Amino acid sequence: MPETLLRGADVVVTMDDAGTELARADILIRDGVIAAVGQGLATTGTVHDMAGCVVTPGLINTHHHLYQSLTRAVPGAQDALLFGWLRTLYPIWARFGPEEMFSSALTGLVELALSGCTLTSDHLYLYPNGARLDDTIAAATEVGLRFHPTRGSMSIGESAGGLPPDSLVEAESKILKDSIRVIDAFHDPRPGAMVRVGLAPCSPFSVSRELMRDTALLARDKGVMLHTHLAENDEDVAYSLARFGCRPGQYAEDLGWTGADVWHAHCVKLDAGEIDLFARSRTGISHCPCSNCRLGSGIAPVRRMRDAGVNVGLGVDGSASNDSGNLISEARQAMLLSRVAYGADSMSARAALRLATRGGAAVLGRDDLGQITVGKRADLAVWDVSGIDSAGSWDAAALVLAGPTHVRDLFVEGRQVVAQGRMTTVETGALAARQRRLALALAG
Ligand SMILES: [Zn+2]
Repeated sequence: MPETLLRGADVVVTMDDAGTELARADILIRDGVIAAVGQGLATTGTVHDMAGCVVTPGLINTHHHLYQSLTRAVPGAQDALLFGWLRTLYPIWARFGPEEMFSSALTGLVELALSGCTLTSDHLYLYPNGARLDDTIAAATEVGLRFHPTRGSMSIGESAGGLPPDSLVEAESKILKDSIRVIDAFHDPRPGAMVRVGLAPCSPFSVSRELMRDTALLARDKGVMLHTHLAENDEDVAYSLARFGCRPGQYAEDLGWTGADVWHAHCVKLDAGEIDLFARSRTGISHCPCSNCRLGSGIAPVRRMRDAGVNVGLGVDGSASNDSGNLISEARQAMLLSRVAYGADSMSARAALRLATRGGAAVLGRDDLGQITVGKRADLAVWDVSGIDSAGSWDAAALVLAGPTHVRDLFVEGRQVVAQGRMTTVETGALAARQRRLALALAG
């Protein structure tokens, strides 16, 4: 691949260990990797003028349900707590098939890309009417984002005391078999990987103890990561105490669900002992502030988690509980929500941006991503700060405090996915029209 030079950025926010920010700096990209960062760099390849722009590492989203991009703002699910929200949406999701999964994934991925995201994970835990994980991987390949899809699952239906309807749950033997299939077909453990597969039972209240344990054993055998929802709200903790006789952290630990290869979404209700457990075991957390606000779940103690040494990344969560999928706005929300509970000095704008970059890279086990330093992959977000939403700003922290909330350009593995605010890979007008048509058909 020929070289690409990003020349003369107002500020390059490197997110290196020291938090270095470089003024009027260049970034040279070669073969998808950052080859040099500094001033006065030259190339015979393509040159992009970065005057008036701040460049950051591409943002990393650690929790999503891309399929939910087709169920935003559903009446009946707009004002409910988690369990009631789920019960309203399950019958709608049961009518999805491969086309709904693919179109929704495209929509969610484009939305993320335009908000600065270069890597997202996805948690797909229902497979109605022939839908497969493959549908979402095809969408990510088309959009050009780095992708960590997880093969999710639900196996305990209503008749067995679980929350989902029986029609949406799968046999555990089938879940494990398909998990092996998608790992063997798509998982790439190498540095620079564009696709890494993980395993992700939906939550302790929708699968059995045996499936949690067997999934952990399979993941370790295959060398892939583990993901689920944990301690999301008071109902979730109450269910754990009533059904399992222990708190969620204990349940996770007992079944092999702690370690550097595990990350849990939400963790709003972790107590001090559980935070200590996560720090000791290097278990990661995906913090989803907008979703936690939307569902009234509570305020995750992120500052305490970070002070204890827990790896924390950000997640937009699915669009049925956000209902937006804008990752730079999610960083702002993380900062604001932390301050509501723990004070104005509990999370700086730069700390929020760090959660969205280095934090996400640590949670997803990607030491090849999350910072603009030589040798890391060239995943870069370019923010035009010459517009009205940044006018009058004094500092690069304005990116989180003020705006913009959409990128000018986005590079993934050195390939330009967004140019001048437009997708280079997907025709967004036609996509939005298709998504509207599918939503109307579901509502009808
Ligand atoms: Zn979720």
